[in-house]
Amino acid sequence: MSPRLRHLTTLEHLPRETIERLLDRAMAMRDACAHGTRKIDLLTGRTVLNLFFEPSTRTRTSFELAARRLGADVVNFDIGFSSANKGEELYDTLHTLEAMHLDAIIVRHKASGTPDELVRHAMSGVSVINAGDGNRAHPTQGLLDALTIRQHRPDFENLAVTICGDVKHSRVARSDVHALSALGVRDIRLCGPASLMPDAGEFAQCRFVEDFSQAIEGADAVIMLRLQKERMAQTELPDEAAYFRQYGLDSARLARARKGCLVMHPGPINRGIEIASEVADGAQSRILEQVGNGVFVRMAVLGELLAR
Ligand code: ASP
Repeated sequence: MSPRLRHLTTLEHLPRETIERLLDRAMAMRDACAHGTRKIDLLTGRTVLNLFFEPSTRTRTSFELAARRLGADVVNFDIGFSSANKGEELYDTLHTLEAMHLDAIIVRHKASGTPDELVRHAMSGVSVINAGDGNRAHPTQGLLDALTIRQHRPDFENLAVTICGDVKHSRVARSDVHALSALGVRDIRLCGPASLMPDAGEFAQCRFVEDFSQAIEGADAVIMLRLQKERMAQTELPDEAAYFRQYGLDSARLARARKGCLVMHPGPINRGIEIASEVADGAQSRILEQVGNGVFVRMAVLGELLAR
């Protein structure tokens, strides 16, 4: 059996067995908490901290719900009112928080690598969970996307998955590729304007297809990404109307995918920019299912890291 995780900062290099264990555990959590109507007494007496240096709605709420459903106490460290704004070093913040005896720090930061830095500098036995660092990783999103696909198309070896949009700046795309390739998906297509595509070397296991109509042909799942303007240089900003014409998902494009293709998006969605409302709200949309699965996946991760 693969060893139990102490931290979760990335899915890169995680063995298939570990990823499958977390997905199985997420399903078990869903059943044990009866879809959220019952609490599980797994982390009573444990304290987890949400330390978010970047805005978040879904992820932060989802981690908070997950921890509470397991009986843990949750503290939200509001960066807006903290001394982080007064120039307090990240490590001073870490050590101050550690002195309050926390069991886990869930961190989101605009700088890639911050969660691993915290792991290296932690003095206590605190576990670190990455809730998104720069464009590098968003491991719980990768897991919840894999879980959502598995619920509908468990035959990973034979799947074609298209990831379309601002791949270059997307930590979601990276964690999705890590999860899906570990689980056996061989046909992963990356699509987007050349200026928003990453180096091919970083995604050696994927196929780069610039034309979206080609990239979605016969796909079993399509994951749409937001234009992450906050990580773009002014010169990279595409014209939104032209972008939608080339890379937006509407029903005509979706018709080129395999029948019943799963439509996914990590949120927040921008209607009329990367996805049309008719598709985001349509019968094939799994976007809200992804959100629901997020809570179970985060319960699974907290359980893996913190259960006694
Ligand atoms: N919510 C996701 C993230 O934090 C995707 C996005 O922001 O576009 O990376």
